[in-house]
Amino acid sequence: MTQPDFEKLHSPTPAFDEVTRQYDKLNQDWNAATSQDERLTVVQQWDQLRKDLETWEALVHLRFNQDTTNSQYQRDREYCDQLRPKLTELAVDLKRKILESSHRASLAATMGQQCFSLWESDVLTYHPSIEQDLVRESELEALYNQLTAGAEISFRGKTYNLSTIARFREDPDRSTRHQANQVTWRWFAENRSQLDDIYTELVNLRTAMSHQLGFNNFVELGYKRMNRIDYNAEDVTRYRDAVRDHVVPLCVELRKAQANKLGVDPLTYWDEPVHDLAGNPRPAGDHDWLLGKAQEMFDAMNHGLDDFFKMMVQGKFMDLKVRKGKAGGGFCTSFPTPGVPFIFANFNGTKGDVEVFTHEVGHAFQCYMSRDQNLIDYLWPTYESCEIHSMSLEFLTWPYMEKFFGQDAERFRRIHLAQSLLFLPYGVAVDHFQHLVYQHASASPDDRHQMWQEVEQIYLPWRRYEDLEHLATGGQWQMQRHIYLDPFYYIDYTLAQTCALQFWQRSQENYAEAMQSYVKLCRRGGEAPFQELCASADLVSPFKEGCLTKVVAAAQRTLGM
Ligand code: ZN
Repeated sequence: MTQPDFEKLHSPTPAFDEVTRQYDKLNQDWNAATSQDERLTVVQQWDQLRKDLETWEALVHLRFNQDTTNSQYQRDREYCDQLRPKLTELAVDLKRKILESSHRASLAATMGQQCFSLWESDVLTYHPSIEQDLVRESELEALYNQLTAGAEISFRGKTYNLSTIARFREDPDRSTRHQANQVTWRWFAENRSQLDDIYTELVNLRTAMSHQLGFNNFVELGYKRMNRIDYNAEDVTRYRDAVRDHVVPLCVELRKAQANKLGVDPLTYWDEPVHDLAGNPRPAGDHDWLLGKAQEMFDAMNHGLDDFFKMMVQGKFMDLKVRKGKAGGGFCTSFPTPGVPFIFANFNGTKGDVEVFTHEVGHAFQCYMSRDQNLIDYLWPTYESCEIHSMSLEFLTWPYMEKFFGQDAERFRRIHLAQSLLFLPYGVAVDHFQHLVYQHASASPDDRHQMWQEVEQIYLPWRRYEDLEHLATGGQWQMQRHIYLDPFYYIDYTLAQTCALQFWQRSQENYAEAMQSYVKLCRRGGEAPFQELCASADLVSPFKEGCLTKVVAAAQRTLGM
């Protein structure tokens, strides 16, 4: 394979008429097909079309995130947002046709059962009557992105955005952390009503769409949109309860130990990110240094990670530096036509750079390993499975953390493990909150802020916001991008973390076995639903009674709790 090059990657903007013509042809060929081979050829041609369209879409959205102030990128994104529901309609029509085929069983024998399960969800989530609502939903999401990306926060004589101010919130100096939180949350307080308005419109819009499609509420539609195939809301409720019963008590103890270590009483919100007086470990160098160390690490890890990472660096399939106007956060996207992923992040000099980086490389590696799957539907698994690859790589890179943190590596590992446990209650809180929001869609913004406080009391009972007014009145969720942009995409992280902790435990006992099993799982991509993928990698499903108690006990031992 020749070295792909991001700068040479071009994806022509599709014209709707042309795409419609291509779909007409596919439909005609499907109707006319008289053999299994002919039917599979149509599916293959359709797959190539979807790959090309997906490549274009990924590129448009990436460019916009790279510079949210560029008016051409904004226009491209708007065009893309307007076209997407129309493309969905064309795809859904063909999916429905294939689902209704009398040859379904024999097709499934070749194509796998999973695509049929996915498409069954997809056809329920779209109808032409919601087209304008979907366009508006994208607009509102972009509005949230632009508003938060444009935040200008003055701090000690300089201006920061929400990405660059973050490092001060985990500064070793307590008053620095406190002040950084004050200015950050003052920005949220000042924009509270606008953030509330965007969310209110999103909740109303999503609820209206769910009614239009025949669902009782957006919880039901949200689960279908997330392609939850082999578990449901009751399973998720039981899992949240297990976190409340088995993880929250340990986290209360972890927070107490942290307070002792820091010598603070009480442990406030601005103390939470710092785990001992020395402050959090920081990578010993900047962007270029970090990439060099990463290459050394992946060379040592082998299993294809070495060549994969070389390809990513050489082809410039990464954008990791902070810039003015660049959207916040980190994500991995992919260009299915050339079969290459792209990593987007905002390095800010904290240990999070290493964590976000290994996380996103995990996604990218999985996607690359799955690039030859026979359907684009299998390029990625559903999200809860996707996050297993990313979160597990964070643990599987543990033996190499000396490269980044030197003598602080052991401290990094302990903090990483503690934070992985502490994340679970927060993650389920975000999920529980969204269930409340969409089950009570007519609630006022103030009601919603109160709902957030209710879930905080269940899962985060140690939280002390003190004088941080916006947080003390239930506003913390407004920083959580997923709540706006990807409804119900959050429990996924906790389910995956529960699996990643199992990989961690196995890697402590037999590293080579854990690595092999990990790479094998990456290769499977999305060819099976969550619990089936878990089982194939010898992972206990998070929905199984007792799953959490086992990993929590192992982590507890390691942390000496
Ligand atoms: Zn991820």
